[in-house]
Formats: sequence, structure tokens, C-alpha cells
Amino acid sequence: MDLVLETGNATDIGRKRDENQDYFGAYEGTPHGDLWIVCDGMGGVAGGRVASTVAVEQIRKEMTSNHQVDAPTALRDAIAKANAAVYERSQQECGLRGMGTTVVALIISDGKATIAHVGDSRAYLLRRGKIQQLTKDHTLVEELVDSGSISKEEGRDHPQGHVITRSVGIRGDVDVEIDIENSELQMGDRILLCSDGLTGHISDDIIAEVVGGMNPQAASQSLVQLANEAGGDDNITVQVIDVRKTASTSWTDRLLNTRKRVRFSVVVVWFLIGGCVVGWFAYDLWKNQDMEKNVDALESQDTEKSL
Ligand code: CA
Repeated sequence: MDLVLETGNATDIGRKRDENQDYFGAYEGTPHGDLWIVCDGMGGVAGGRVASTVAVEQIRKEMTSNHQVDAPTALRDAIAKANAAVYERSQQECGLRGMGTTVVALIISDGKATIAHVGDSRAYLLRRGKIQQLTKDHTLVEELVDSGSISKEEGRDHPQGHVITRSVGIRGDVDVEIDIENSELQMGDRILLCSDGLTGHISDDIIAEVVGGMNPQAASQSLVQLANEAGGDDNITVQVIDVRKTASTSWTDRLLNTRKRVRFSVVVVWFLIGGCVVGWFAYDLWKNQDMEKNVDALESQDTEKSL
């Protein structure tokens, strides 16, 4: 399925932090398709911003150069390379020790989506009005919910809600989770990537209402605004990708397009033929007038000579 994708994005420092340590990227036409990334950095005064920036840039670089493998493998490899790049940088500069970042990344190619993540930045799918979280947070709270120790509701306000169990750049290696792999998209689908500065404040129902109710850019800005109005405790980053219509790929559409092209070609040919005919008549007329002038001139010379 050929898709037309429209992207909106927004990022904001929030109302409590001194710096925006989130970072995002949106890149069209990598060898594996279109690519979107959201990273939420952490660690040190400057470390979080460096970690998220290095990770996004490294993933973009790897996805642009790694042609040999399929999209899921390329994405996994790219995040692993980003982990190595952030970790090495943290070892080189004392002030950056312990920095790390979350990653959520989406690649869409030929109407199929692949998502990978590490940490608590999330991906959601909004399809026919229903919202579905595609990623599972790598957090202590999620583990407690999974084990049955606490309920999902208790998890929302848990005092250790910020503790993540997996991140990029903290150690020399990383376990990347591929959440969906070459999953077929449908017309009207919307995918949301976001940092926890959004989901810490805004419920899934509100997210669904906003993402489904306006264009991607307006939805992104509106979500950031809502998170700020709810307290803005953290940096907020949002990317909304809208699968808004298919290109003309059915056989009827192709036939119609072919007929339009044929009709246009016929008009152009007739226009050219008409131009040639008019040109030929104009030339012939000019030529006859010129000959008549020459004959008149010769006749007047003969008359003068005979006089
Ligand atoms: Ca955050």
C-alpha cells in the first residue's frame, strides 16, 4: 500500500525543569523508509541533553548507511550503536558520566511499520477511534504491575514511577525491544511517539481525543499545552504521524490515470498539428504576398525602361 504520511511534532521544556533534555528527529527517505525518533535524556547537568542528541544522531546515521539488513534488524543495530556512542562519550568526559537516554523509534516503509524502544518513552496507535499503547515501559512500576504486586491504577501514582530499568548509554550493551515488526498500516491510522513528560500527566483517553481530533501539528502542540497546564513537571516531546490517504493504487484508479494521460497526449498532439498547419498557411500567405511585391516591382522597372 502506498501511503501519504503527514507529521506533526512539538517539544517543550515544561514548567519545572531548567533544560529540555528531550530530543527528537524526523527523517524522510532513509534506505529503510521514513524514520521518527524520540529520546528522553537523563543524567547530570548537561548529560541528558548530550545523551539524547547523540542517540538520535547516531540512529539516523546508522539507518541511513546500513542497507544490508531488513528494517527491524537495522533499527535494533542502530539503537545498539547509539548505546555504544552514548556510553563511549560518557567515558570520555567526567561531567557526562552516568548519562543515558530512552529511545522510541519508528520506521515506515511500503505501508509497514516497525517500532523499537528502550525505556519509558512510548508509541501509541490510534485506529478507528481506539488507542492502543504499542510499547511496554521498561520501568520498575511496569514490572510490579506485571508481577501482580500492584494494580495498574496504583502504578500511575507510584513514588518510584520514574525509575527505569533499561536505558541507552548507561552500560556498554543494551537490550532493545522490537515492539511491532513490519506491521501493516491502514488509512486513517495515527501513530504517536512521546516522552513521559506527556504520559505522566495526560490519560490515554485524552490523548486519543486530541490525536484523533485535529491535524498532526495542531495535535502535537495541543498535547504539549495540556501537559503544561496539568503541571509540566517534565520535558514534553510529541510526534504524531498521520496515515491520511493512499495514493491511487487500485486498478480502476490506475486505468483512470492512464486515460487522463492518453487524453492529455492527444490534446498536445492535436495542438502541435494545428500549430504546424496555421504556421504553414501563414508562411504560404507571406510567401505569395512577397512574390506579388516582386512582380509589381519588376513591372514598374520595365515601365520605367520603356519610357
Ligand atoms: Ca522525562
